[in-house]
Amino acid sequence: MVITVVRGDVEVIRLKSCPKCKTGDITIDRDHHGWYEYCIQCGYTSDLISVAESGQKQASGSKKRPILPDQGDSGRA
Ligand SMILES: [Zn+2]
Repeated sequence: MVITVVRGDVEVIRLKSCPKCKTGDITIDRDHHGWYEYCIQCGYTSDLISVAESGQKQASGSKKRPILPDQGDSGRA
């Protein structure tokens, strides 16, 4: 998947990734409904939900703690 930022703002193009015509370039944009993808070549459109909700994925509560082998000096006698 190739993602190219076109305007640095919200417009993104995925080259030749249209699920309908297979060769069309998909552009991603949003209107008052939210995000959608649109094929420039054939006019295929599809709503995007995941893009709008990305950024809220890191809410899982398991913190990873690094395990340090040299922690605690109770090994010496
Ligand atoms: Zn297409």
